This record gives sequence, C-alpha cells and structure tokens, in this order.
Amino acid sequence: MRVAILSDVHGNLEALQATLAAIDEVGVDEVWSLGDVVGYGARPGACLSLLRKHCSILLAGNHDLVASGVTTAEGFSRSARIAISWTGQQLSADERAEIGSWPSAVQHQGIGLAHGSIRDPAWEYVVEPEVARACLEDQVSQIVVVGHSHLALSWRLDDSVVGGAAGVLRTDGDTVEFGERNWIFNPGSVGQPRDRDPRAGWIELDTDGRTCTWHRVAYDVATAQAAIRAAGLPDALADRLGAGL
Ligand code: ZN
Repeated sequence: MRVAILSDVHGNLEALQATLAAIDEVGVDEVWSLGDVVGYGARPGACLSLLRKHCSILLAGNHDLVASGVTTAEGFSRSARIAISWTGQQLSADERAEIGSWPSAVQHQGIGLAHGSIRDPAWEYVVEPEVARACLEDQVSQIVVVGHSHLALSWRLDDSVVGGAAGVLRTDGDTVEFGERNWIFNPGSVGQPRDRDPRAGWIELDTDGRTCTWHRVAYDVATAQAAIRAAGLPDALADRLGAGL
C-alpha cells in the first residue's frame, strides 16, 4: 500500500490545496493527517472540510485540542494564543466537537502514528536525540510517523551519535529504505514549515516497497499571507510563511 502522510496544515488552504494536488498526481491508496489542521492560518473551516473529504485517518494536534475546547492554550506563544482564540470563533460547535473527538495517536496497519510522539501524543516534540532515542527504544512498531515540530526529519538509533539517535533533515526527493531498523519519520508541515524551506511538506510511505519518500510542494504563499493579514491575525504569522521559519 502507498500512503500519503501530511501534518500541521494550520489553516493554510493554499498550501493544503497544492499538497493534495501533488498527492493526487502521484496517486496513493490513502491519505493520513497527523493533526494541527487549524491554528495560525486564516482558513480553518475550509481546511477541515477538505481533509475530511480526503483523509481516512485524522489525528488531533495540540492546536486542534485547544480550538475545540478540550484543553487550554497554556504554554502557547502570544501569537499562537491570539490565532487559536480567533480560530475557535471561526469554527461551528459541530466542527469543534468533530476535531475534539479525534485521537492524537493510533496504531494502523502496523504503523504508529501520533501528532507529537507515541508516549505523549499531542504535546511532545521529537527534535532532541535523547527524546528520539527513548521513543525509538519504546516503540512497538518498526515505523512511527509524527508531526508537530514542522521539521521534515528521519530518526534512527545510532550509538556513535551524542544522544544515541541520528536525526537527518530531509528535503524533496529524499528516500529512506526501512531495512530492519526502527524509524521515526516526520513529513514536515504543510501550512507552516520551519526548516527554512517555505514549500509544503508531505511524505509517501510505501509499505510493500518499504520506503519513505519526502516531498515538497511550492504553493501560493502570497495569497495565504494576505488572508492572515485580512483576518487581523498577527503579521508575524504571515511573514514566517515566506521564510519557512
Ligand atoms: Zn503544528
């Protein structure tokens, strides 16, 4: 089976449309979303309805849980807090209930999926080697895919590296063959990349060929930025899309 996995759309409709078009062109059996459909971007409802239509798995990220009222925005930056309170007001009660009902981690077809990490599904960032090592040693499935950090990454155990896990930033066209190792993959973010590449990120997982391939897609950043400004959301949220930060 070939699956497209995407994460952290964050209300960026232009990035999501471009990503879904690219996925369509490649042709996959299923599309899975790892959460943070909303927050930061100006089109949360439109992103929700597109993802509902295309995805067979929908996980809730920390921003989804705050927007739906399941948890509070404690720990959010000022701009994230402003955006998530605006987002909550844009969504209907039914939409909030829907995203609040999603799980933040699942095991599906032998693959572990979580927004943050398997052990702390909504909130933990797997960006430090020590954290990656602990997660890799604990995981029951060979392959785990997480989002949340907005960094396109692969992690594997490696005793020769400080912290005991090797993390590699991935770019368009990179492919990893699973082999016998445990891996954690991160597709990066569709709607707010933070690895200095403003293009939307997603991965293609081939469970028969046993490979993971990273993809990046250019999209209409200027329109997404204009929508953020027109909504009265913090300028910084528009600016960062241009830099991929
Ligand atoms: Zn996010």
